[in-house]
Amino acid sequence: SFMVPRAVGTFCMAALGASAASAAVATALSGNGLDFFLSWMTTVALGMLIVTPPIVMLARMVGSNALHNVPGAMKAQTIAILTAAAFVTGVCFSQSEFPVTFLPCVAVIAASSRLGPFGAASGMLIVAIIAALLTGQGYGPIAAMDESQKVEVLFLQFYLVTMLFIALPLAALLVGQRRLAKRLEQSNRWLLQAEAAALVGHWRVDLVRWTIQWSDQAYRVHGLVPGMPVTVKYSVGQYLPEDRVAVQRILADAVASGDAFEYQGRIVRADGEIRHVKSHGSIEKSRSGKAIAIFGTVQDVTETVENARILESARSAAERVANTDMLTGLPNRRHTLSFLDQALRSAAQDGAPLAVAIFDIDHFKLINDVHGHATGDEVIRRVGQRAKSSLREDDMVGRFGGEEFVCILQGRSAQSAEMVAERVRKAVESDTDGGDFPGVTVSIGLAAYAGEASIEDLLQRADKALYMAKREGRNRLRMAA
Ligand code: GH3
Ligand code: MG
Ligand code: MG
Repeated sequence: SFMVPRAVGTFCMAALGASAASAAVATALSGNGLDFFLSWMTTVALGMLIVTPPIVMLARMVGSNALHNVPGAMKAQTIAILTAAAFVTGVCFSQSEFPVTFLPCVAVIAASSRLGPFGAASGMLIVAIIAALLTGQGYGPIAAMDESQKVEVLFLQFYLVTMLFIALPLAALLVGQRRLAKRLEQSNRWLLQAEAAALVGHWRVDLVRWTIQWSDQAYRVHGLVPGMPVTVKYSVGQYLPEDRVAVQRILADAVASGDAFEYQGRIVRADGEIRHVKSHGSIEKSRSGKAIAIFGTVQDVTETVENARILESARSAAERVANTDMLTGLPNRRHTLSFLDQALRSAAQDGAPLAVAIFDIDHFKLINDVHGHATGDEVIRRVGQRAKSSLREDDMVGRFGGEEFVCILQGRSAQSAEMVAERVRKAVESDTDGGDFPGVTVSIGLAAYAGEASIEDLLQRADKALYMAKREGRNRLRMAA
C-alpha cells in the first residue's frame, strides 16, 4: 500500500534490492565493469520506483470500482493538476535558456498534497517520461550541460530520485494526517451524539484566561443556540441567587483542593424557564500542580427532581392517611402508640416527666341508642376537637378506638398533667352550644410515668384509674396510684 509510510519504505528497499540483483546478474553475464553495474542498477531501480506505484494504484482503483465513486469535481481536479504538471515539465525541459528544473518539483508536490499518493506517483511518472524524452532528444537544461551523455543521464536519474523521495513520503504523510483528522472529526461527532442522546453536556473553564467553553448540549441545557459566545460571569449568573452562592463556593473549594466536585442548582434559562441542573466535574492541573481549568458535565435533572417531589408528597400524604383517624382527624391508635413509645424512651433517657390520660365518653351506648349512630359519630368528633383545643401544642391527643381517647402530656409534672386533664374534662362537659347534639361527659384515668419499661404498663395503670373514675360515678378524673 502506498498509503502507509512504512510500506513505501519497504517498497523502495525491495526495488533497490531487486535492481541490484538484476544488475549483478547482467554484469556477470556481460563481463562489464562497475560503471555498467551502476548504470544498469539505477535505470532499473528508477523504472520500478517511478512506474510501479501509479500502475499498482490505478489497477487497484479499477479493480475495486473506486474510480466510479470518485466525484466528477475530483476527477476534473486530478486531470487539471496532472495536465499542469505535464505542461510545466514540458516548458522546463524544452528550453535551455533558464535552468528552472525545480518547477516540475513544485508541480509534483502540489499533485501529492492535493491528490495524495496517486497524485505523487502519476505526477512523477509524467515528469519522468517528459523529462527523459526531451532530454534524450537533446532539449532542455540537462542536455545543454557541457558534459558527456553518461553524466547527463546520471544527472537526470539523480534529479528524478530526489523528486521521488520528496513526493512519495510527503503524500503518505498527508494521507495519514487526513485519516487522523477524519477519525477525530468522527469521534467528536459521536461525542456530540452521545451527549444529545444522554442529555448531558460538558463545559470547561480556563482559569488562566478566565473563559468558558460549552458543548452543544450544554447550550441546549441552558436554552441557548449552540455556538453563542458565553462568559464565566454569564454562566454563573444563570443560577438563581439562592443557589449561585453555593455553586460558587463548591467550585472555589474544588479549585483550592483539586478534588472532584458535584452540585445541583436551579438556573433561569434564556426563555425564562427555571430548570434544575446537575454538574459533576474535576480540576485540570498543570505539571507543577497548579489548577488551570475546571472541567464539568451538566445535565438537566428537572424531571427527576419533579418526580422525586411528587413521590415525596405522595409518600407523606400516604403517611398522613396511615396515621390519621378519619372521623376526628386526630392521630389514630397506631400513631398514638408509636408517639407514646417515643415519648417514653426520651423520658427514660433524659428524665423529663411524662403523663398519660385515657378518657372515655360516659354512657355512650345511650347516645347511639337514642340519637342514632350518625349522631354518635358527630359526638365523638366534637369530643376529640374539644379535647384538642384545650391542650397546648406540645401535648398530643389521639383517638384510641371507639369513643376512647389518649392524651400524651410530655414535660408535665403529675400536678400539671392533672390540671390539663381536668381542663379537658371540663371542656367536654361545658360543650353546650352543640345545637341538636346531646351534651356528654367523659371519665379520665391519669398515670404519671414512673419508670415503666413499656407503654403497655403505663397505659394499664391509666386504664385502671379510668375504671375507678367510672365506678365512682363518671364525669371525673382519677389519678393512678
Ligand atoms: P361507659 O360510661 O361505661 O363508658 O358506658 P358506655 O355506654 O360508653 O360503654 P362503652 O364505653 O363500653 O361503650 C362503647 C360503645 O361505643 C359501644 C359502641 O356501640 C359505641 N361505639 C364504638 N365506636 C363507635 C363509633 O365509631 N361510632 C359510634 N357511633 N359508636 C361507637
Ligand atoms: Mg368505651
Ligand atoms: Mg363509654
